[in-house]
Amino acid sequence: MRKQIAAANWKMNLTLTEAESLADELLQTNHALSDDQLAIFAVPYPYLIPVRTKFEGKENVYVAAQNCSANKNGAFTGEVSAAMLQSIGIEYVVIGHSERREYNHEDNSLLAKKIDVALEFNLKPIFCCGEALSIREAGSQDAYVGTQLEESLFHLSPSDVDGFIIAYEPIWAIGTGRTATSEQAQQMHAHIRSVLTSKYGKEVADSISILYGGSVKASNAKEIFGQPDVDGGLVGGASLVASEFATIISSLK
Ligand code: PEP
Repeated sequence: MRKQIAAANWKMNLTLTEAESLADELLQTNHALSDDQLAIFAVPYPYLIPVRTKFEGKENVYVAAQNCSANKNGAFTGEVSAAMLQSIGIEYVVIGHSERREYNHEDNSLLAKKIDVALEFNLKPIFCCGEALSIREAGSQDAYVGTQLEESLFHLSPSDVDGFIIAYEPIWAIGTGRTATSEQAQQMHAHIRSVLTSKYGKEVADSISILYGGSVKASNAKEIFGQPDVDGGLVGGASLVASEFATIISSLK
């Protein structure tokens, strides 16, 4: 059975003290995760070890990097490699968040390289895809997201993508307070799963967790996560408030 996942994206927020307090507050909410549920915290690089230390011993809770370099090592000042993340025991990495696509000009072929380097160093990618408002208004979102998957993932083998994590995040819903309706989310998630089925077959496609991201909050998580092809969420703003994120975790199927 594929995993149901509540993933927090803290982005470039919080000081170390604030990050540790947020982790402490979350620990006090004391939610239990079953074996097919995960909570993953994508935190800024300097907080990977401190936040992981806070969650030490908590079953099914992980920290993730928000990015990694497409290069293995060398003269890339300011970059962090997959090998470095592996060397400090990190298991997950977000690849292709729309903010990185926009501000750092990360395109589908660069993201394919990042996925490869992440897999080479045993990191599990959380691959983000999703369309801008203009694409949704033109009605071409299915083809657009299909191309994102094809150009960044379709060179991978079925065993590479077995148990993979994809986050569908319509850009028009990120940080805007405008959430996709649960029907819109389900429609796109079913489309993503059918694209994956046509490439990798039903068994592999059914093993892939497809998270929804875009203004998920405590008040709408249950309805969105209740859709058959929605396997949890990638959550920005609401993940910075312990009580909100605790409710989001408890909304997982
Ligand atoms: C995100 O950053 O991935 C995101 C979905 O943000 P928000 O929940 O704030 O819309």
